[in-house]
Amino acid sequence: MPSWENPLITIIGEKCRMCYACVRECPAKAIRVVEGQASVIQPRCIACGNCLRVCAQNAKEVRDDTERAFSLLETGAPVAAMLAPSFPAEFADLTPGRLVAMIRGLGFTWVHEVAFGADLVAHMYRKLVEEDPERRMIATACPAVVNYVCKYQPQLMAYLAPVVSPMVALARALRHDLGDDLRVVFIGPCVAKKGSHGESAQAGVDAVLTFAELREMFRRRDLEPESFTEDDRFDPPYGGFGNVFPISGGLLQAAGLQQDLLSGEMIVAEGRDEFIDTINEFDLAHADARLLDVLACHGCYAGPAMTNKETMLQRRTRVSNYAKNRLAGLAEEQFEAIRSAPEQYKDLNLYRAYVADYQPVAQSATSNDIEKILEHMGKHRTEDLLNCGACGYDTCIDHARAVYEGLADSDMCLPHTIEQLREAYDELEVSHRSLEEAQEALERSTKLASMGQLAAGIAHEVNNPLSTLLLHANLLLEECDRGSQTQDDLETIVDQANRCKRIISGLLNFARQSRVNREPTDIGKLVQKVLHTTAFAEDIEVRVRNEFKDPVADIDGDQIVQVLANLINNAQQAMPDGGRLSISLRDTPDEVTVRVSDTGEGVPEENMDRLFDPFFTTKQVGMGTGLGLAVTHGIVKMHKGQIAVESNADHNAGPTGTTFTLILPRHIEEGASGPFEAGAK
Ligand code: ADP
Repeated sequence: MPSWENPLITIIGEKCRMCYACVRECPAKAIRVVEGQASVIQPRCIACGNCLRVCAQNAKEVRDDTERAFSLLETGAPVAAMLAPSFPAEFADLTPGRLVAMIRGLGFTWVHEVAFGADLVAHMYRKLVEEDPERRMIATACPAVVNYVCKYQPQLMAYLAPVVSPMVALARALRHDLGDDLRVVFIGPCVAKKGSHGESAQAGVDAVLTFAELREMFRRRDLEPESFTEDDRFDPPYGGFGNVFPISGGLLQAAGLQQDLLSGEMIVAEGRDEFIDTINEFDLAHADARLLDVLACHGCYAGPAMTNKETMLQRRTRVSNYAKNRLAGLAEEQFEAIRSAPEQYKDLNLYRAYVADYQPVAQSATSNDIEKILEHMGKHRTEDLLNCGACGYDTCIDHARAVYEGLADSDMCLPHTIEQLREAYDELEVSHRSLEEAQEALERSTKLASMGQLAAGIAHEVNNPLSTLLLHANLLLEECDRGSQTQDDLETIVDQANRCKRIISGLLNFARQSRVNREPTDIGKLVQKVLHTTAFAEDIEVRVRNEFKDPVADIDGDQIVQVLANLINNAQQAMPDGGRLSISLRDTPDEVTVRVSDTGEGVPEENMDRLFDPFFTTKQVGMGTGLGLAVTHGIVKMHKGQIAVESNADHNAGPTGTTFTLILPRHIEEGASGPFEAGAK
């Protein structure tokens, strides 16, 4: 593809960090962001280069003409360089003479000042004003401005002054002097000048280099400034007042029109916002204005392809100082040549026409469409329209319109995205927490399962010899003398052996080696039964809050009595100095919940994880086996229920005490339960 047809500005996807600065700065809204990917809509782009200027990631690429320029130079045919008058703002590190010498060093036959083309153009403007003093005109030296009018305000094209740009005027003057075979290369601060459909191509400008590209050519040819003279000079024809063209209002100044037009009749506008507003309002707000001198940048010295990082003022001063010195340094005959140039080149055609390239919006959104998109972005009320501009659009409605037109994504809305992120974060936190709980439960179940296996193995092995021991001890007891020491000893043996049996039966319960006989049972009544059979100390207050709607559940009554007795006994033992035992009973259609709370000493933090471990006890020897809660856990598991504990043992953290919460399913699907499954404690 010839380089003229390559897209002018493209976005390098990997570098783009989606800051939307370019969307914000693009006056033509020619940057589309879809599915997180930004791209330039080529037909909409006016090539002003604002997107380049604001891109901190250097994610924008401008079509590079260095190869094209090198190959022109390699043909050996004469090639003229045309240097834009803003060059002093860029090449602060080089004297003009040395810059000219280095350009020649690249192989250019001649180095010319575009300022001369500007002089010719200024003369044309003056002529147009003099021919028809009432004529209203938009000056056209800036190609981005022309692009904007042709694409977005084609009804104003009639106001565009029908005059070529200084670059084209110079190219024509040079061909007039040096022959039609001459190759010309423009060098300047402008991206829009490269425009493939603009004047450059039509006017036979063979390549358009930016100052940055010129520097790159110096680098590639190893041209060091010190090797070049400072005293080289531009080739004639020389530029005069055209040297001030890069400064806003420079065109009017060069044309000497300031004196002829009253200030209200001349409007100078520069920069992204001003130029768009001024053009859009040309018909209405500026009805008295006759001449509009508009530049898309703040003067060409602020062009997007400038690499000099000095302030605007410094760059502007460099251009005006150079113009001043240049004019002061011209000999009288050179001045005379400049003055007589329009006459000398009067046969040159410096007129031009414009072709509309209207870019209407494909579909225009109705207020209903906009509303729907705003709703989707979480903007339900007027107060939600923050108009923060973070998306690159001035208002939320502009953004919604761009979404409708397929130019933008709704997730470009920062407040909306933050809100969504916050919600996602909260959800993640919740699921993280439940994952942690599930993991803890799984760990505990795994630990208890392996302990259960061990305990069951030992219990089975010990059970048989113990039964034999008990049998023989009882036989001996029947045969021995009443009241004898032997009877006493044998009774102790039987007692202790029975105790061992109970422990073993507890172990088997814990390991779920026993069966569950489920039948509809009134849990409220079970609780009453346990309370009646428990001897409470006087200083223990017992409260029951029965809120059961339906107290009946499919459970093994004997086993649940064991669970309740364990919890109630533990609660009482945790309150040696008295306190309150509260039992609350609640249900849903699917579950019954029993909470057993005490105001006792509480469980220290470090013991919380070990409560359900078999043989974990803090009670004195003989007082506790450490199997109560392990067995409780086993029974609850067999019922596919859950048991949880909350406790505070720290007086500084509030009243001490412990609450066990037992949740049992009302009905259990037979065969669905496996030993110590995850998800329950
Ligand atoms: P045991 O009662 O034989 O010690 P458990 O398995 O029933 O065995 O209890 C284990 C341990 O859990 C107890 O020794 C005690 O330290 C603690 N514990 C159980 N229930 C409570 C409670 N309500 N308040 C304080 N600690 C308790």
